Amino acid sequence: MRAGDLAPQTSVKPSTSAAHRTRVAILGATGSIGTNAIDVCRHLSERFEIHSLTAVTSWKKLAEHALETRPKMVALNDHSPADRPSENLRALTDALLGTGIQVITGPHAMEEIATRPEVDTVVAAVVGAAGLAPVIAAAKAGKTIALANKESLVVAGSIVMPTARKHGATIIPVDSEHSAVFQSLRSGTDKEIRKIILTASGGPFRTWPKNKIESATVAEALAHPNWKMGPKITIDSATMMNKALEIIEAHWLFDLPPEKIEVLIHPQSIVHSMIEFVDGSVIAQLGTPDMRTPIQYALTHPDRYEGCSTRLDWSKIREMAFEVPDERFPALQLGFEVIRLGGTAGAVVNAANEVANEMFRAGKLSFGQIVKTVESVLSRHKSGGGFVAQPTLEQLLAADQWARAQARG
Ligand code: MG
Repeated sequence: MRAGDLAPQTSVKPSTSAAHRTRVAILGATGSIGTNAIDVCRHLSERFEIHSLTAVTSWKKLAEHALETRPKMVALNDHSPADRPSENLRALTDALLGTGIQVITGPHAMEEIATRPEVDTVVAAVVGAAGLAPVIAAAKAGKTIALANKESLVVAGSIVMPTARKHGATIIPVDSEHSAVFQSLRSGTDKEIRKIILTASGGPFRTWPKNKIESATVAEALAHPNWKMGPKITIDSATMMNKALEIIEAHWLFDLPPEKIEVLIHPQSIVHSMIEFVDGSVIAQLGTPDMRTPIQYALTHPDRYEGCSTRLDWSKIREMAFEVPDERFPALQLGFEVIRLGGTAGAVVNAANEVANEMFRAGKLSFGQIVKTVESVLSRHKSGGGFVAQPTLEQLLAADQWARAQARG
């Protein structure tokens, strides 16, 4: 997809009339992005109406959010049969009794919500490959998708992007780096891009020696210096696997080859990413590390409204430094390799990483083994482990399952 197709600058503005507020479905409403998205909708409540909220297991937080924001419906991605509801589902239903909020459930609950005709915008904030099916469903339904679930592009960008194009869906990035590139693109066309520069904070281990990084504890890896995020992405930031996933995400969103994607470590997290255009001009987006800014832009694009995030205080900024990442962070190369390989490589890298990330948090893997596990699963996949160059969705999901089993060992 060409960057210009991503979201036309002439798209319909969110209406100012209360009767025609943009109706937003927030998938993954109990996570860090989901909670921030609720914040933004509340802040712009004269323009946005929360239509629905979904969660995978956190029924209590989902009930709290629902009681406060009063959506039309909530969904728990619960697999229990209708005649034998799970404890979570019963508790959620009880908590919302008498509110008129409809509770829907089942393995396809998120897809059902993402495709409701009354929903205008879907905030896709589910973590991991679990977010793929609702993103594809929303794309097929021609929705505007505020995409925070980078994994859906890493796994199946080759399916998601053409599906969105075919059905007239608009994908707007929420990931702060991609939002920065997307915003900077208003200064030029996709053909005028010489390269994009994705910034990375460097995470908690930026200054650590390699051997110390490899034996880092869970608590040390969870102590991100700049961003407050959920546990999966915080560990991905420490390994820099998050940046590898973002390299792949940028490739799909902006249709860029690996040679036009660069990563720079920028410890202050002020510059959220930049574009160098062919004439040598570099356009960047700057701000505090507050996800409400990119979330709000994804919702209000192409307009800007008064924001609710904290502002940069220029009187306190002493330095903005940039460093080229070195071999202490081997994960980055996986991002470029996945783009070059294409096919099922992204699904395999993502799935192996999800498993290794979780095993590290459960104390079953050392920090250094996370990326090594992913590298080894990818290498087995290339050498006879069922690599498919032009996979169907079924083949991508099969590669995902294969990689999970391999990573578990
Ligand atoms: Mg990011």
